[in-house]
Amino acid sequence: MSVLGLARAEIVALQPYSSARSEAAGGDVMLNANESPWPPSGLQPDPRSPPLNRYPDPQPRILVERLAHLYAVDESQVLVGRGSDEAIDLLVRAFCRPGRDAVAICPPTFGMYAVSAAVQGAAIVEVPLTSAFEVDVDALETDLPDHVKIVFLCSPNNPTGGIVALDDIERIATAMAGRALVVVDEAYIEYADAPSAAGVLRRHENLCVLRTLSKAWALAGARVGCLLAGAEIVALLRRIMAPYPLPTPSITAALAALTADGLTLTAQRAALIISERERMVSELARLPRVERVLPSRANFLCVAFDESPLVHRHLIVAGVVVRDVGRYRWLAGHLRISIGRREENARVIDLLFRRELGS
Ligand SMILES: *Cc1c(COP(=O)(O)O)cnc(C)c1O
Repeated sequence: MSVLGLARAEIVALQPYSSARSEAAGGDVMLNANESPWPPSGLQPDPRSPPLNRYPDPQPRILVERLAHLYAVDESQVLVGRGSDEAIDLLVRAFCRPGRDAVAICPPTFGMYAVSAAVQGAAIVEVPLTSAFEVDVDALETDLPDHVKIVFLCSPNNPTGGIVALDDIERIATAMAGRALVVVDEAYIEYADAPSAAGVLRRHENLCVLRTLSKAWALAGARVGCLLAGAEIVALLRRIMAPYPLPTPSITAALAALTADGLTLTAQRAALIISERERMVSELARLPRVERVLPSRANFLCVAFDESPLVHRHLIVAGVVVRDVGRYRWLAGHLRISIGRREENARVIDLLFRRELGS
């Protein structure tokens, strides 16, 4: 059975919307898409960018090529969209029948998997992380009910920071073959010093990987992310994706970042964040009010504080905003602190020390 056998039959059978841009390219008198023949007012035309009065290419070729090169996959295995959030939503819509199918998640984890499932009317099967905040591989291999169509693994996991070993991902993908997709969300993998699951896509047709330019590539505002998967899955999701998902300025921003210089800078910054993260771990360990710091392979630390609401408040009053993740299961008393620039991190430590001293 092809992996498309797992998808909703009506999506596989769907006749997709055919946009003007996808039917015809080229030509210099463009009268096929009811666009304005003039550029918009109020903006200087950007010579590096296609004109804004024209609809964008639905899957810009050069961008797809650069991403395929960056992630070491084939171009047919790349689907670019509005952040990885869009890919999560498309996967759930294409593979989960409302009222019948389910997604599996490993809480505490990123909230969007459950939100997308709820919007689609899909159930949620929880396979909690172990007490060491690791994925329960045995339970995922053997305990999942048949109506689970997607298993979401977040590696490194938000908000706890741990990774899922590639061997474990492959074990789960093998156990789920012919039954469910295994989707590995690698939003933070640039900080993990670990291999991407993209490297084993060819061995598992039910495996998908999510990557994003929102974190290490500093483009959260541009909303560019992608799904890496077998060509059949990519083609299926394109059928249900909005006809012009990527705004032209976002395409321009992504291409400007994805150069050889951009790659060097991104790698340097990721290395800096990693060293700052390790420095923060040792600084935090010296504070009596810090109960524990979860080992992190991402650009944040999940930290348990004695009296965390007071600490949270103290930081906010001083203008430092961190995330209270105490509402997540097993994370009562924890704050998630993103790693910032060196002086920003120093400010956090300084504020926490002053609080210890009671000043
Ligand atoms: C931040 C984050 C993303 C990124 O989402 P985008 O839509 O690409 O900005 C994806 N997954 C996780 C777990 C995240 O924390």
